[in-house]
Amino acid sequence: MKLDETSTKFLKIKCSKCKNEQVLFERASSKELVCLVCKTKLAYSTGGKINITGGKVIKELN
Ligand SMILES: [Zn+2]
Repeated sequence: MKLDETSTKFLKIKCSKCKNEQVLFERASSKELVCLVCKTKLAYSTGGKINITGGKVIKELN
């Protein structure tokens, strides 16, 4: 298996509800990604990149 280094990164997301900062994998396979603190839905997977719905990207980590 070949690693695709250009298209995968981690996103630091700030929850819009409780301001918790959490790192999400940009290509997470889970359907729903929730805040670990308040359980707000932060993002969902589209099969490719995730869509951020309940928070804000504050940093991209390669
Ligand atoms: Zn939260």
